[in-house]
Parts: sequence; structure tokens; C-alpha cells
Amino acid sequence: MPDAFDYVIVGGGSAGAVIASRLSEDPACRVALIEAGGRPPEHELIPVACASLQLDPQTDWMYTADPGKAGRGLHGNRMPVPRGKMLGGSSGINYMAYVRGHPGDFDAWAQRGASGWSYAEVLPYFQKIEDFHPSNEITSDQDAHGHGGPVSVGVRSPVIPASRGFVQASENAGIPRGDYNGRDRGGPTGVVSLMQTNTRKGKRASTYRAYLEGAPEQRPNLTIVTGALVTRVLLQGEGETLAAVGVEYRDQTGKTRTPHAACEVILSAGAVGSPHILMLSGIGPRRELEAADVVCRHEMPHVGKHLKDHIQCAMFFPAPGVGLPMSEVRISLGPDALRGSDGLLPVDPVDDDKLTPEQAGLKAEASRRVEEWHETGSSLIASSLYDAVAFTSTGLGDHHSHDAQIAFIPCGYNEDLFSARLNIDTSRYFEDAAATLAPDNENIIVLANPVLPHSEGEIVLQSADPTVPPSIHMNYFADPHDLKVMVAVMRRALDIVEHWPGPVKPGPLAIPPFLARKHGYVPGQPPSDALLENMALHFSTTVYHLSCTCRIGDVVDARLRVLGVKNLRVADASVMPEIVSGNTNAASIMIGEKAAEIVARDRGVRLARFVG
Ligand SMILES: Cc1cc2nc3c(=O)[nH]c(=O)nc-3n(C[C@H](O)[C@H](O)[C@H](O)COP(=O)(O)OP(=O)(O)OC[C@H]3O[C@@H](n4cnc5c(N)ncnc54)[C@H](O)[C@@H]3O)c2cc1C
Repeated sequence: MPDAFDYVIVGGGSAGAVIASRLSEDPACRVALIEAGGRPPEHELIPVACASLQLDPQTDWMYTADPGKAGRGLHGNRMPVPRGKMLGGSSGINYMAYVRGHPGDFDAWAQRGASGWSYAEVLPYFQKIEDFHPSNEITSDQDAHGHGGPVSVGVRSPVIPASRGFVQASENAGIPRGDYNGRDRGGPTGVVSLMQTNTRKGKRASTYRAYLEGAPEQRPNLTIVTGALVTRVLLQGEGETLAAVGVEYRDQTGKTRTPHAACEVILSAGAVGSPHILMLSGIGPRRELEAADVVCRHEMPHVGKHLKDHIQCAMFFPAPGVGLPMSEVRISLGPDALRGSDGLLPVDPVDDDKLTPEQAGLKAEASRRVEEWHETGSSLIASSLYDAVAFTSTGLGDHHSHDAQIAFIPCGYNEDLFSARLNIDTSRYFEDAAATLAPDNENIIVLANPVLPHSEGEIVLQSADPTVPPSIHMNYFADPHDLKVMVAVMRRALDIVEHWPGPVKPGPLAIPPFLARKHGYVPGQPPSDALLENMALHFSTTVYHLSCTCRIGDVVDARLRVLGVKNLRVADASVMPEIVSGNTNAASIMIGEKAAEIVARDRGVRLARFVG
């Protein structure tokens, strides 16, 4: 591979893959994309299999975090913080909810100094991203959406009846249907909808699939290096002349390489990776760098600080006649998913010639469902099961936006998801976890998710060795406001479930038995605030939305240039001046689109289309 480029982009995730794809539209522009992970595995395309990409070192960075005041009911008090490690980054591992954020979020960015990032100014980039597929199942603000863009956005097929039930229940509880990605989010009351997802024909549309796969990755002026751990930015000069000239990385064989950038280095390594690389390069809080034996080249106290994330409490309801059994999802994954110790099908397919008639029928049905998904995109596996959502206000502040997101899962998950992926101690969460989470049981989960947290965490450098992860301190609930909002959101979630339509309703909220005893909970009575608080402190988990660790105003300017270092930008979720009040993937892709145009305008790169 050549060792000189115009632009070296670090990290091919939600933002980085977009920037590499856009800048390489100009054949005269030599672009290198350096990514630590590989190409995504085949099962990355199966939406419902998303959790299986976590805890796999091939596709996940495997970070865990100190959860601060939360996490008391997690094994070892640690919060797993998955981050995608592949082309596509976290858009390859995530739950595919396509949520832009409230218009007021972006206006607030602009008001605090991020000029050029108001809602009116970011809307064209959201539209550039999208290939929106309207559906009779949702209300959509057609003119606010984009058509023909790389990322397909639509509603899952088939719609699961329980998810329709959640939308109706929310409406019955006073939250009208609407387009949460539209221009009008309905004032404090908010809106409810089936989830819009970034999927194409029932398959994941990560930024690798949408922006790089196929023709773009074949461009002669785009070099994509995978399995390459970037260890630092190469800097030249000092003081006012300090400038980035390239990066250093370790390739798969452990060899050190140093591609040079004639124009710029762009860090898109995400909210953990970008501040980590800056600090490894000597750019960050002096005392922390020196404690880790890194020479401070440029003191920047805010690198890694102001970490924001969303946290959610999974409220579990046994729901016979309403919820979707996990066994049905498993059949839809095809015959191989049925091979296991429980004997639904033989472990080894060579033994399939001895199937009972029941097993033969099951295998035929599983095969039929997979074929149908391949051909039409319609299947129970065509979404992550994060299927419907309401955005509303608790009235406790932050009136520029909605501070509450209440999302719906039409099933009860399984032991693996609760215990391994979320790290929840299910022996404390449930009276009898095995019985409650049995595959044929019908349950639902409502996720209470405050979305404008006041607490801030931090990413702290631990070692000059780039293979040692930084410490992640989430500091959840450090600000008492956040716990107040959480309780209010949990109450609103209970209210929605109480308004379930039709004669068959979900059962009562499952209260962890030790908390029921501690707070004298009387079944049938509403849980007290103290009980709900304690439930949140024990069993809330990350919503995976880490952001703001290199935020505009403190670490980069509004054109994403690192303050005081020439030819170096950061463009990913870390630059958000404040976390958006919803899932962060769409905003990260938008940051990638806008960053590409900013760079192109500053440097004369000829993109195929400018929208800003
Ligand atoms: C499990 C999970 C579920 C989620 N669900 C949703 C959802 O449903 N909807 C939603 O909107 N958002 C969701 N999110 C959040 C969303 O995906 C992220 O906010 C978004 O992808 C962040 O984009 P990014 O470009 O900042 O970082 P990333 O997409 O994480 O990209 C960073 C890239 O940089 C690479 N990298 C990092 N360090 C280095 C290094 N040293 N050298 C080389 N490469 C490096 C990484 O491997 C990665 O590819 C989820 C996230 C996760 C992890």
C-alpha cells in the first residue's frame, strides 16, 4: 500500500465510513481509511442477531465501565459498554433504531456556540443520508425525509401485533401518533410511533453496507486498511506550528506503519477511541498524560471529559396473549439456530435423516421462514425487536426538547441477553429467572429511558500502551435530577401499559423480590418512588450512546478542527456539544456527512453533491 495520502481517516464507523466514502468521490483525492476491526461477518446483516456481535472480540471492543451510582444489580458492579469493531463501527453492532433527535437539540447546539449546527442547518444532511420508505403503519412528515440516499430507512415487516398495541396504548395514554424524525415533535406531549429502522429489505444497513460496500470500496483513490490499530497521531512542530502529518498504526502482523497525510488526519474512532488516540498522542489533560508516562505535546483539559450517555431501566411485564415468545424468533433464524442441547434438532445436520415427524415439520418451517426473509425481507428477524417508541416530556426541565424516551420490546428476551449481554444478576432481578424467561413464555419489556441527562462521566488514559483500554467512568445519576427524571419516565411507562388496548392486557410489572420486600411492595398497588429509584439504581443499563468527549467548543471548533493543532479534525459522536435526546447513530452519520462537506469546502475537494 502507498504511504502517502491527502487524508487519513481513523475509524470506519458511523461517521468515518461516510467521510471516507464522500471524500473519495473526488478521484483526485487520495484517501486512506484505517480501521482496527475487519469486514463485518455475514450475521451482521440479521437484525435480530445484533446482540450476538457483542462480547465477541472480533466485532466488539469489549469495554466495561464503572457505572457510578448505577449498576448495583449488575455482576461485579460493571457495566458492559459494547463498541463496534469493524467497518461500519457501532452501526454494525447496534439495534438499528433510526432516530435523528429533537429539532431543539440542534438549535441548542448552535445556541451554545456550535455555529452551523442548528436544526435548519443539519436537516439537509439528514436528508442526504436517507432513502426513506413510507408506510401506512406510521405517520410521516414526508418533506422532512430524504429519498435515494445511501441509508434505507423504514418500518419492519411484519409488524408485530404487540408493537401496534404499544402505539395504541401510548395514544390512549395521551401521546398522539407522529413522526419522531419529523419537523414537529408535538410540544411537551410528544409523539409515538413504530420504530423507523436503518434496514434495507429486512437486513441491517450499517454505514459499511450503505456507503462503502461494492463500488466505493473499489475506488483506486480509496485505500481501506483493516485490522490496523492506530496508536497515535504523528505530530510535527510545537506551540503554534504543531501540526498532524499522519498516523502510526500496528498492522495485523504487529508491524508498525506510518501513513502520511498531505492535507489532514481525521479522527473518527468514536467517543472512546478518539479521545484515547488524542491522549496517546500527547493531546489532553497534562496531569493524566504524565501519570501515564505520555509526554504532553498540547495541553487540552477537556479531552475525554463531559462524557454523556443514556441509561435505561428495562421494565418487564409477563404478558400472556400479548408478548412474542422467544421460541418463535428462534425458529425464524433457521434450522441451525435450533441445533443445541435442548434437542429441537440434532446438533449435527448429518443426523437429520432420523428426524421425527415433528422435527421434520419444524425444520421445514424454519427453512421456509429464512428463505422468505432472504427473498422479501419480511420476517420476525427483520428487526432487533426494539420496535416502537414514544418521546415525551416529564415537565421536570429541559423544555427545548423531550427528556423522555419510552421504547418497546414485544418479547421478554432470554437469560443470555439479560445475564451475559446486560450483565444483570437475574437471580436478583426475577423471582425465578429460568421459569420467567422460558422460551415459550409471552412477555414484554418497556424501556424507561431519560434522554437529557445532566450527569457527566469521563474517559481517562490508563497507560501509554495503546492496547490498554482507557478507563470509562459513566458517573450515572451523579446529578440527582437524573434519578428524578428516571422515576417520572418509569411512571409514564406504567401509565402507558395501564392503557393497553383490547381485552387481553399485560400482567403487572415484575418487581425484583428483594426490592419488593425492602419497600413493602403490595402487589396490585402502585410501586413507591423509593422502590422505582432503587430499581433504576440496580438494574439500569447503558443505551450505548457515549458521546461529547471531544465536544465542539472545548476540543474542536465548529468546523471540527482540533483547537491549537493544525491539520487535525475529529468527526464522530465525540464532538456532539450535548447528547441528542434520542439514539445517536443517525446524528453520528449526519456528523460524518457534514464533516465531509466542511473538509471539502475548506480544501477544494469536489464531492458529487453539496447540500449545505
Ligand atoms: C450495542 C449498541 C447498540 C446501539 N443501538 C443503537 C440504535 O439502535 N440506534 C442508534 O441510533 N444508535 C445506537 N447505538 C449508538 C450508535 O451506534 C453510536 O452512537 C454510533 O455508531 C457512534 O458512531 P461513531 O462514528 O462515533 O463511532 P463508531 O461507529 O463506534 O466508529 C468508531 C470506529 O473507529 C474504530 N476505531 C476505534 N479506535 C480505533 C483505533 N485506535 N484504530 C483504528 N480504528 C479504531 C472502531 O473499530 C470503529 O469502527 C448503539 C450502539 C451500540 C454499541
